[in-house]
Amino acid sequence: MKRQIAILGSTGSIGTQALEVINENPDLFEAYTLTANNNADLLIEQAKKFVPDSVVIANETLYEKVKDALKEYPVKVYAGCDAIAQVAESDPVDTVITAMMGYSGLYPTIRAIKRGKRIALANKETLVVAGELINSLAAEYGSEIIPVDSEHSAIFQCLAGEEYNKIDKIFLTASGGPFLRYTKAELQNVTKAAALKHPKWNMGAKITIDSATMMNKGFEMIEAKWLFGVKPDDVKVVIHPQSIIHSMVEFEDGAVKAQLGIPDMKLPIAYALSYPVRLHSDRRRLTIEDFATMSFENPDIDKFPLLGYAYDAIRCGGNKPCIMNAANEVAVAAFLQDKIKFTDIEKLVYKALEQAGHITSPSYEDYVATDAEVRKSTEENILKSISR
Ligand code: MG
Repeated sequence: MKRQIAILGSTGSIGTQALEVINENPDLFEAYTLTANNNADLLIEQAKKFVPDSVVIANETLYEKVKDALKEYPVKVYAGCDAIAQVAESDPVDTVITAMMGYSGLYPTIRAIKRGKRIALANKETLVVAGELINSLAAEYGSEIIPVDSEHSAIFQCLAGEEYNKIDKIFLTASGGPFLRYTKAELQNVTKAAALKHPKWNMGAKITIDSATMMNKGFEMIEAKWLFGVKPDDVKVVIHPQSIIHSMVEFEDGAVKAQLGIPDMKLPIAYALSYPVRLHSDRRRLTIEDFATMSFENPDIDKFPLLGYAYDAIRCGGNKPCIMNAANEVAVAAFLQDKIKFTDIEKLVYKALEQAGHITSPSYEDYVATDAEVRKSTEENILKSISR
């Protein structure tokens, strides 16, 4: 029996690579449903190639276009955000790859968990915003969460066979992004084009900016806390510019396990789909020359304060990470539209963390309200800073 895969966000960087993995393993996997936000052209192209049971375009104004293009194909076409959750929870689906961008991943992920689906988690914001809720729902409904994020896949792989052993520390590796060697003054004037040029990973625009500010690593620290049940301060960020070690785990006896590989998201994607089995791959392998380049250093929190804010937010708990995420999403979008400077992102996140009300034990509805409130106030803060 082929595993039936739902890809939420099939036109993004993870989504397209997941389809390549499915294409390379046609005896194992089948694309059951594909969803996209706005990229109707690529969704149509994917639907024609993979002929899934259904596709969803979130942007309802594009429904007619997709419907019309696929009228000769046996593919159901739906539109809107609720349809995404509906296809993800449909009976034949075994695994849901959550590869959509940002906060929008939370709702369909919750719906899929409630149907006991295996979640191949690529949308880290889901755990950043509502990790406690996601964990308790996954336990209640017997839903397995397998990380796709390369660092968390590495940690997950290091933990295979270690069920009874306590984790002492996680070394979460970070490439350091394009601005690792910049001074604080130089960071004031970086351009969007420079921020979008990641040295090691080819990813979507939002996560590439998050990597440049190191917000991404802050998110990943929170993601690690929820996935592996560790304290925030047991997750140590290590700058490793070559991105060969994807993360490490230290156990009680002092042993450290690491997972290494060339930086290629197809490995963690394939592992999440085939786990616990590993699939054959013909991709490039590491060499002694690669190993010889490896270096490590501490992150500079003074230069990249968002990483520090992430530790503060998760230590404080409740809706603080949700506040941080909402402000960051709005700020990054504004930076990508050339409305604010690179260093304004951290200022806007700081302001939101100061302004928004703290809820210690939020419900799902509290997260929704917090997200909406912080988006609005951050938009206002952007307008104020522009008019100044
Ligand atoms: Mg990562």
